[in-house]
Amino acid sequence: MLMNKLHETDPEIYETIVNEVNRIENGVELIPSENFVSKSVMQAMSSVFTNKYSEGYPKKRYYGGQEHVDVMEQLAIDRAKELFSAEHANVHPYSGSPANHAVFFALMELGDKFMDMNLGSGGHLTHGSPVNFSGKHYRNVPYFVDRETELLDMDSIRKIAEREKPKMIISSLTAYPRELPFKEFCEICKDVDAYSLADINHIAGLVVGGVHPSPCSDTDVTTTTTHKSLRGPRGAIILSKVEDRLHDKYHPDSKKNLAQLIDSAVFPGLQGGPHNHTIAGKAVAFKEAMQPEFKEYARQIVKNAKALADELMSLRIKLVTDGTDNHLMLIDLRPSGLSGRGKQVQNALDRAGITVNKNSVPYDESSPFNPSGIRLGTPAVTSRGMKESEMQVIAQCIALVIKDYKDKAQQVMIKEDIAELVSGFPLYPDLTVLE
Ligand SMILES: *Cc1c(COP(=O)(O)O)cnc(C)c1O
Repeated sequence: MLMNKLHETDPEIYETIVNEVNRIENGVELIPSENFVSKSVMQAMSSVFTNKYSEGYPKKRYYGGQEHVDVMEQLAIDRAKELFSAEHANVHPYSGSPANHAVFFALMELGDKFMDMNLGSGGHLTHGSPVNFSGKHYRNVPYFVDRETELLDMDSIRKIAEREKPKMIISSLTAYPRELPFKEFCEICKDVDAYSLADINHIAGLVVGGVHPSPCSDTDVTTTTTHKSLRGPRGAIILSKVEDRLHDKYHPDSKKNLAQLIDSAVFPGLQGGPHNHTIAGKAVAFKEAMQPEFKEYARQIVKNAKALADELMSLRIKLVTDGTDNHLMLIDLRPSGLSGRGKQVQNALDRAGITVNKNSVPYDESSPFNPSGIRLGTPAVTSRGMKESEMQVIAQCIALVIKDYKDKAQQVMIKEDIAELVSGFPLYPDLTVLE
């Protein structure tokens, strides 16, 4: 994309963009929630739709001039429904956190009880963290992974649900490297009259690619960002059933079905004008995700994660649950004698050209600022075209850095090797070219 105008009018911002392009071109991106969008998605996002106000939904707007916005948003909705086999789709949410907020706002009263995975076990901030709206305004009953197996224990989750009778149970992951058993979650929800929310932010690309079970046929509501493994623009969508299964119990006075409850929670409940340029980008990404190549992409994400995990384990790096079924893995630094050193290892890997994030491991004794884990994922490197053999090289580099995280000279050398490795996988070769 030509950026000559920006270069002319705002060289300072232009320079930060060029620097960022160079950073991603020359390094390895292993943050599991990140990805690289196509040029088509970027073009849709930098289109004139950024100018338009369109409060409301297609054919029910508050301002004029909506004939093209309506067509565009309807395409996004129809594609989202088809892609996920969902009955209803709302494509407005600005991001994953506002999407989850909208579901709470639609279904729960202040102070209502809900269940979710504890942050330390691999849940998300919006699932009841005491610093988040979900923990401040609603009553959170967390469930945990088993201390021995580090896996979800569905019997104990059922017991907690039967005892606590929550109004909603969330199934989701941000650092859990195994499959989520959506069917079992939904059975528990049915038995205790709770809404089921599947938050598939991280794994949406795997779900539509057919390498992770889909929750959409069973759950009441599914939320997902569009910018993680789904490889679209920063934003989110909410998918749901049309009928409110628990209408008589929880919303007897409402004339709204579930789809209408969700839509009115998003607008006018929480948001104003939708970000139309982003919605156009979402529609483009949904079309890309419907192509056969995307299935191959999703399969390769999982293959790459397995290759990375196997090589790390063969180099005596301990992984939570001893491996992965999805796109991510969590290194447990404690057996390497590095309890609470996640931050130092993250910084050392940064110096070696490998971008990761520090993360708590299950039952971590250290604080979230100095946790004992490193989280890795493969959606972004797979978008660059890397395969199993590159994963092995990257794993060897990571193992070297972990074993001697104070050796800065070694990190400088590894950074050169990494730059050499990734130079064969250019991402946006003409992005910053001037006319
Ligand atoms: C990323 C994520 C979110 C939040 O998405 P943002 O776009 O960062 O607000 C919510 N839940 C889960 C499980 C996530 O992984």
